[in-house]
Amino acid sequence: MDRQKHKCIFCLEESENFKTVEHIVSESLGNTDDILRDAVCDKCQNYLGKEVESFVLSKTPFAFWRTIYGTKTKQGKEPFFNIILDKKDKGAISNYHPFSDSNIVIHPAHFNNEYVIRADVSDMALLERIQSGQKRRFNIVLTPKMLVYMGRFLGKIALEYWCKNYGRNIFEKRFDELRHYVRYGTTNAMWPIFHWQLAEALLKYEDISDGLQEHTLYRYAYGEIKAINKLLFVFDIGSERYAIIMDEKYPDSDILTYEMFSKLFEDIAEFPDIFYYSQLK
Ligand SMILES: [Zn+2]
Repeated sequence: MDRQKHKCIFCLEESENFKTVEHIVSESLGNTDDILRDAVCDKCQNYLGKEVESFVLSKTPFAFWRTIYGTKTKQGKEPFFNIILDKKDKGAISNYHPFSDSNIVIHPAHFNNEYVIRADVSDMALLERIQSGQKRRFNIVLTPKMLVYMGRFLGKIALEYWCKNYGRNIFEKRFDELRHYVRYGTTNAMWPIFHWQLAEALLKYEDISDGLQEHTLYRYAYGEIKAINKLLFVFDIGSERYAIIMDEKYPDSDILTYEMFSKLFEDIAEFPDIFYYSQLK
């Protein structure tokens, strides 16, 4: 049987290996509708699912929102947020931070028929401080590894929605640096991520018919930065907003002003935090 050749939007290789359907946003975040066919080769899909998505959706703030919402995997597994950092600085990208709490797993539980969030703390010293009342909140610091993987995750979604909406424009050279970052990562310089806290969480339930509920856990938008002719991708999840510039890793800092951001999106009320480590080790 003849199968057609397609070109992959990440590795740029042409092949016939496009058997599986790509979910732009993982099904673990509740996406069943936004899919791509014949755009991401099986090898890249497999790699990105196993390497990038599985890390981001269990060990970063994206996992936190999945857990709060209770979105199960397609195999019916419960979500969890696994805050277990390395004990010391090791590996090519550090997943360690001296000021972060660690050894905590946050997961859903059912208590008196109610959905509750439970935190299991396996660090005995930390547990003692919680039980004695000395410690009242967890301090979670985003490590270089978390931010690199979150950037790759956002870049993947940004490129895939662009492909879905604008087709072959996805192969323009201006996206090459981002597609490479998404597919192959980096050990020397991360893609900066802009971050805002939204006034209200997106998390909501709406009755769409008897007993059926629809939710809005995430949403996305693109904005054109006219001053430098660049493209911003924005992804909201829970009460957080993340953004990356898709076609410029290090934009001129002069254009990164509150005015620039607020012109793009009228619900942006302040200058973002910029998540960035200049050294990953
Ligand atoms: Zn590929």
